[in-house]
Amino acid sequence: MPVYDLHCHSTASDGPLSPAAVVRRAATRGVGVLALTDHDETAGLAEAGAEARRTGVRLVPGIELSVTWSHQTIHVVGLGIDPDHPDLAAGTARLRAFRDWRAAEIARRLEKAGIPGALAGARRHSRGAILSRTHFARFLVETGHAKDVRQVFRRFLVKGRPGHVPGEWATLEEAVAWIRGAGGLAVIAHPARYGLSATRLRQLLGAFRELGGEGLEVVSGSHTPDDNERMALLARRFDLLASAGSDFHGPENPWYELGRIPELPAGCRPVWQSGAWQAAIGSRPAARAS
Ligand code: AMP
Ligand code: MN
Ligand code: MN
Ligand code: MN
Repeated sequence: MPVYDLHCHSTASDGPLSPAAVVRRAATRGVGVLALTDHDETAGLAEAGAEARRTGVRLVPGIELSVTWSHQTIHVVGLGIDPDHPDLAAGTARLRAFRDWRAAEIARRLEKAGIPGALAGARRHSRGAILSRTHFARFLVETGHAKDVRQVFRRFLVKGRPGHVPGEWATLEEAVAWIRGAGGLAVIAHPARYGLSATRLRQLLGAFRELGGEGLEVVSGSHTPDDNERMALLARRFDLLASAGSDFHGPENPWYELGRIPELPAGCRPVWQSGAWQAAIGSRPAARAS
């Protein structure tokens, strides 16, 4: 069985490697099926697809959408999307416009806190791609305001901190509709990472299932082994297909490495063995070695 890695990032969002470099790295790490899932952006998929054909990796065109659900930011991965679908394209354009506004607002707040130049600094790191908090984090590390990216988030970029700006992302309903409308499967990303209580997580999964969402990222690079087991039980309980992804961003976080993904716990229905996958991805012209 090939190794499936269905969640990772490139320079099209907040990863430091180009889409082609991500695919090459996946190939050397033994990944057989890779989904590139940049935040609110599909611009990396063409380059990744071309490199996938050269290296023999099978590329699943993906995205990771930012969602506001019940005052909480949630991420929804789309697998097997048509990146040119007009509703998805219009929806992500709106999210990117919000990102631009938010970036200016983060910079304004940081300036008030005595840190000028953050917008230009973040832009230098994003190099024309979407503006993510990760790019602000890199600027703040480089200018000596924190020792690493984790510390930046704690000090500056989370709720209650000077550079925090609340999200106004897509609704859960919109995100699921855009993904499914574009022929893809909707998957709740890294469900254990939101810090939701068991009750709220059940509410989220119930609402998601009701809207037509198909999958849960049971195994994530950002989960503990215990998280993976708990999410496997929830996937069964809500009759959701199980997905797995490293959430690889770049070589500087070696614990989220491409293809370094534990097996799905027993009792899960792997998303790649489902009829929904066959319909959405199996029949699509595959990015195989020619
Ligand atoms: P944004 O979508 O612009 O709000 O940025 C969210 C991104 O920031 C995530 O996808 C992660 O890549 C990164 N991130 C969020 N929280 C942290 C953290 N505590 N430490 C390091 N990176 C983080
Ligand atoms: Mn990210
Ligand atoms: Mn995420
Ligand atoms: Mn991600």
